Amino acid sequence: MFIPIASKRTETAGPEIIFNCPACGKEGVVGKTSEMMEENSLLWIMPSMPFFTSRVRRIVCGQCGKAFRTSLSLEQLSDASPEDVARNVAAQVNFIAKCCIIMGLVLAIFPFFGLVFAGIGMLCTLKRRTGWRTVAIIGLVLSAITTAGIMVIIMLCN
Ligand SMILES: [Zn+2]
Repeated sequence: MFIPIASKRTETAGPEIIFNCPACGKEGVVGKTSEMMEENSLLWIMPSMPFFTSRVRRIVCGQCGKAFRTSLSLEQLSDASPEDVARNVAAQVNFIAKCCIIMGLVLAIFPFFGLVFAGIGMLCTLKRRTGWRTVAIIGLVLSAITTAGIMVIIMLCN
């Protein structure tokens, strides 16, 4: 079924802030903040009444250009210290990195394969402060254990 939805996007620029970038690892860099508001309305039924509004606030790093989502409002951002911002910023991990991390974890029970995927996932998230990095490390450790176990078995059999 097709539901006609009209959406209106408005982007408001926020203050420039000083923060520690989780992507390039630089401290005290200038970040541009903005708030994107999306109003969605059902075109035929209530064209002027938004039934679903979403707000997304972003910080773009002045050094590397990477964008981060934050849960802080624009007002909170202007008074926040670099440490406050760092705690409320999530580095965006790309789709391929996420796939590798999940594969690394799933394939950890198989020697070598898990190690390769977890290794790639780990490299992709190396400098990022994100939960994905933790998952990548877990996958890497588990894969290392199974790989080491298999190596020992092979050596014992010879
Ligand atoms: Zn950066």
